[in-house]
Amino acid sequence: MEAIYISLTGIISLMTLLFGIRVFQADRKSAINRSFALFTLITSIWLLLDFATYQQSLANFQTLFYKIIFAVIILMVFALAIFINYFPKTYVGFNNFLKLIISIVILILVALSLFTKSIVDYAYMEGYGSNFQQGKYFIIFIIYVSALSLFILIALINKYIKSQGEEKVQLKYLLYGLSIFVFLNLAFNLFIPMLTGSFIYGRIGTYSSIFFVGFIAYAILKTHLFNLRIILTETAAVIINVISVVSIFTSNTLTEGLLRALFATFIFYGSYILLKSVRREIEQKEELEVITDELSKANEKLQAIDAMKTEFVSMASHELLTPISAIEGYLSMMLDEKMVKIDDPKAAEYMDRVYKSAKRLARLVADLLNVSRIEEGRLLVEKKDIELEELVTSVVDELKFKAEGAKVKLEKEISDETKVKLYADPDKIKEVIINLCGNSIKYTHENGFAKITAMIMPTDEVLKKFDAMSYICKQNGEAQTADGSIQTAVHEKYKEMVGNKQVVFSVEDNGVGIEPCDIPKLFKKFSRVGDWSTQEVQGTGLGLYISRSLVEMHHGKIWVESAGKDKGSTFYFSLPLFETKAQVVKLDSEVPKAKDAKPLAKSAVGS
Ligand code: ADP
Repeated sequence: MEAIYISLTGIISLMTLLFGIRVFQADRKSAINRSFALFTLITSIWLLLDFATYQQSLANFQTLFYKIIFAVIILMVFALAIFINYFPKTYVGFNNFLKLIISIVILILVALSLFTKSIVDYAYMEGYGSNFQQGKYFIIFIIYVSALSLFILIALINKYIKSQGEEKVQLKYLLYGLSIFVFLNLAFNLFIPMLTGSFIYGRIGTYSSIFFVGFIAYAILKTHLFNLRIILTETAAVIINVISVVSIFTSNTLTEGLLRALFATFIFYGSYILLKSVRREIEQKEELEVITDELSKANEKLQAIDAMKTEFVSMASHELLTPISAIEGYLSMMLDEKMVKIDDPKAAEYMDRVYKSAKRLARLVADLLNVSRIEEGRLLVEKKDIELEELVTSVVDELKFKAEGAKVKLEKEISDETKVKLYADPDKIKEVIINLCGNSIKYTHENGFAKITAMIMPTDEVLKKFDAMSYICKQNGEAQTADGSIQTAVHEKYKEMVGNKQVVFSVEDNGVGIEPCDIPKLFKKFSRVGDWSTQEVQGTGLGLYISRSLVEMHHGKIWVESAGKDKGSTFYFSLPLFETKAQVVKLDSEVPKAKDAKPLAKSAVGS
């Protein structure tokens, strides 16, 4: 049993000392680190002396031990008070005169304990170890310890209340350690002895100082980018090495000694490698933390710049829209023969060109305004009951003249099963259909066709078709969807949210078609694909981006299928068929709300 106590005392006082050395090394000039190192040095001496008071073989020295122990406790509490005063920020500043006075008082107290009988009178042996008789002025010691404990407590509470962030965390660790230490000491050195009349378990309280010291060491080193793991690894390595070296000298034969020496060498080398790798790993982690921090700061800056840009675009588009609409309106009146008569055909032609350009400009500005609203989350979606057939018919009517002008046949096909009611924003859905049909007319040669169809499709199939496009995107180096199990989980959640039935609109044409490698770019801002489209057909590259956002605001999906260049294309978008309006309202409330939203500016049809 005593062997266990010997090793335990040795290990704990060694660890305490190592913690102190580690902290001292981290910053030799800091008052915090120095006072902590002093505290650990005194604590480790106290641990050893305390151990000695349990030794029957040292009966003759017990009185001396107790005198030294009390001198050591006087210094220990003082070192702790200095440390708490400095950590993590100085609480009370002392001038040199005060420091001198305090030092003299401490010296007098130490001298009283060491050289007089005023604090410790004498020691005597008990069954489990030794005990002592208090001196005449033991009360001085009690007052001293109580005063400093009170100072420590007030300083700690004050600091904890006033601290924030990292400092608060540090103080929390310190308080954890202190609580464990105080609690175990009260239990084993006060309450249990009061109940049993013996100090036999007193050592447990003493040993608990390791928690206190350990927690403080961690709290200090945390700010110096040190890690508890490295402190513990180092401590464990030193202890194992010390034990293995000591074991060499306790060998009985030379061979045993040599074997143990060999073993100790292995252990030394192993600890060296282990420490090196732990250190490297921690350094890498720290570097990574610094880089992550820098990146997140840079990201914040970029986001701020991006928000400024979006706000500028939003403001500029808003300001531009009014005069452009006026120009567009007046030009349209001038071109109306019933209102104004233009005799010169050349002038009429020029006027017509100006009118078309003004219309395109109005469209571009309206699109930019929409994009900025989408990005700022200010686009308001006003859902109501709408008849699907009515909606499609009105779009086809609106686009009739444009299709006729382009000599493209515009058709619609609405089956009976799709003559359903939808709970959606009619303006936004109309805008999506107009964008898609407008594109089909734009990107189809003369005598071609554009056909809009509505059908009902299970959500599973919608997802399958949508994934097929994502697959093409992935093959072309664009990761639009997550992989494997994540994808399945996302789909399951989506199905759970929107139910298993969707209305799917398709807009098919036999126009210029789209190369598979261009598909990933289609739904991005300002992206226009294929030489044909960019050279001969005017556009902004915003229509599909806006359409995608609008469909997503309705919890739907949008995708495209095309067999390739000149093979036509079919654009699809789906809207979940909710059984009740309440389901839509609930889902909308779960999706982040657009604040300060304004209605979407109505964009001119086609360009
Ligand atoms: P815009 O038509 O103004 O350029 P969109 O975002 O509506 O912008 O379309 C982006 C690009 O997608 C177009 O520039 C075109 O290259 C391609 N695209 C869109 N619809 C079709 C279609 N029906 N057929 C072929 N290409 C299309």
